[in-house]
Amino acid sequence: MNELTCEGCNVCGLVCPVAGTITLEEVRSGVIRKATTKYGFPLISAQLDVGRPESGKLVTEEKEWASKLMKELNLEHMIVDSAAGIGCQVIASLGGADVAILIAEPTPASLSDVQRAYKVVQHFGEPAYLIINKADINPGFTGLEEWAEKEGIPILGRIPYYRVVPKSMSMLKPVVEAFPEAKALKAIVEIAETIKKEILE
Ligand code: SF4
Repeated sequence: MNELTCEGCNVCGLVCPVAGTITLEEVRSGVIRKATTKYGFPLISAQLDVGRPESGKLVTEEKEWASKLMKELNLEHMIVDSAAGIGCQVIASLGGADVAILIAEPTPASLSDVQRAYKVVQHFGEPAYLIINKADINPGFTGLEEWAEKEGIPILGRIPYYRVVPKSMSMLKPVVEAFPEAKALKAIVEIAETIKKEILE
């Protein structure tokens, strides 16, 4: 067994014809942290140790922490900010979700990525919504909106590209706080209102 590639799924232990030959031992894969943000909501985050492959298991563990916290604090909703792509951590993020919100940009590469992610969403049978980020960077490209319409995926909103968004990230502040006058802000607030009204309520 290779320590750097073993995901700890125990399939080898189940299929091995000699019972008890393969056993799993607990090892450290990373850290999970719990905090309360200055905005008043709890946040669970995790960091995988360098070289460890168990990203999906770490996300699953994070979600278990979050579920316990929801019960303790009597909270109604859990928002999981998934990694991009279709890897283990994305599958773990989507598992058990009530709704999936896909975020894509109007480019052929982003369309291809979101189509693959949508297949994972379909596997779980979850309703999907789409947010178009950097909506104005490629005006001639209509493929993303056409695909969403063909699949019947409602578009929650379109966020224009604005340089202050990456700048606010480098300041470790939400854009709505760092640059309240930014034009992207209006779209973000409208999307938040739509999510509240159409999905959460
Ligand atoms: S536990 Fe799973 S990932 Fe690890 S060696 Fe066995 S089958 Fe492979």
